[in-house]
Amino acid sequence: MIEENHPVFIVDQVIDKLDISPILEKYKGGGTSSYHPRMLLKVLIYAYINNIYSSRKIESALKENIHFMWLSGMSYPDHNTINRFRGDRLKGVLKEVFKQVVILLAEAGLLNIKELYVDGTKIEANANKYTFVWGKSIKTSQERIKKQVNELWDYAQSVAKEEMHSSKPDFTQIDAEKVTQTIEKINNALEGKKVDKKVKQKLNYAKKNWPSNLRKYEKQSKILGKRNSYSKTDQDATFMRMKDDHMQNGQLKPGYNLQIATNNQIIVNYTLHSNPTDTLTLKPHLLEYEALYGSTPETLVADSGYGSEENYELLEQKNIETFVKYNYFHKEQKQKKPDQNLLKADIFYNKEKDCCYCPMGQKMEKVEEVKRKTKSGYLQTYSIYQATNCKGCPLRTTCHKSQENRKIQRNHKLNKYKDKARSNLLSELGVKHRKKRPCDVEVVFGNLKQNHHFKRFMLRGNEKVNIETGLMAIAHNLRKMAA
Ligand code: SF4
Repeated sequence: MIEENHPVFIVDQVIDKLDISPILEKYKGGGTSSYHPRMLLKVLIYAYINNIYSSRKIESALKENIHFMWLSGMSYPDHNTINRFRGDRLKGVLKEVFKQVVILLAEAGLLNIKELYVDGTKIEANANKYTFVWGKSIKTSQERIKKQVNELWDYAQSVAKEEMHSSKPDFTQIDAEKVTQTIEKINNALEGKKVDKKVKQKLNYAKKNWPSNLRKYEKQSKILGKRNSYSKTDQDATFMRMKDDHMQNGQLKPGYNLQIATNNQIIVNYTLHSNPTDTLTLKPHLLEYEALYGSTPETLVADSGYGSEENYELLEQKNIETFVKYNYFHKEQKQKKPDQNLLKADIFYNKEKDCCYCPMGQKMEKVEEVKRKTKSGYLQTYSIYQATNCKGCPLRTTCHKSQENRKIQRNHKLNKYKDKARSNLLSELGVKHRKKRPCDVEVVFGNLKQNHHFKRFMLRGNEKVNIETGLMAIAHNLRKMAA
């Protein structure tokens, strides 16, 4: 009853060719016989190909849909079995299955895994957007407690100086233990003294709440790690701005930053990140690629979101041919005439003499070199050049607004990388890659989100969300193969 060349056959054939021993190792043996993991994998992937993500809907499809019936060989695992297999058995092993599928497709000549088009998108987590924890508010609350403990100590000292035997503790670092001891000490010192009613109330409140609050903040800070927010319903999800904002109010939503690398619209690698900006995700994404395939890509194409000094340096070190835009690359290309605004005008830099020349031709000597750390901890070096005398210059009002002589900063290393990126991007090959990039990687996101409704995860937590993404990626690749 199933027509020839139906995608169900492709799923069956491809999954039959895979080595699923990492999944088999997850079965301890003993107990009642289990459904074969290969069959369950086929069913799950076929369900994802058909936009069926709910375990209950998959259970129904197994009883109603002939394609599912054929795949499962008329066995009917229920939604609990499907969920356990998806959430537990595939933990940590699905990436290996994904890799095998990609290599099979590459061997069939459908893609080149050495040439990557990289991009990212945000996918909403299965989490409540109102149950948030903010790093900033934890810090504010901790600071407030520190300040109030300090005030209470000072008050106690003013009222009962003799009873406060010890010197004032250092409250710059406080924890539940320290607060409990301090409050107890203050209470003991104030016993029998005439104490302000409000202070008494505050001491009672502090004794009851502050230690437990501090313990709670400590626990929350541990969950936060380097992030600045998380959702209580999915603690691995971070609040970020989503592009598809139905309410149009710029509200932050808990989600994950999904990064993919594609070639010929086939997903070669995927990673999930808590960082909302793409810049910092390239390094872990590349490391994951290397761990997966045991080699480095030869070519990488990405948009300006990835064009940072750190990324350019990384790609150069790995000897990867790079076609990565930087900020203002397009603006630079559109600009036909030199900038008329002197504030923005390009100041001439003389490499031999390591000095600059301002719009009036005055020499700007290098006055200092400053180091700045980026969010990821990468150290950038900026050279500062300053004009010797701006007084009486006819261009003074339009040139700069500072009281001193004009200062400019140059990041020579970044400029060198930008020059190289520009020449790569403007080359014949660069133009070809730039034209291909949106049709290669961006359409994959469009297809997954718009046509396959992959806008929100069904599962919670990093590991499970990774499994869902892996299933989605395998399903997408097999759909491409079938097409
Ligand atoms: S104001 Fe100073 S920096 Fe600007 S053009 Fe005149 S001399 Fe040069």
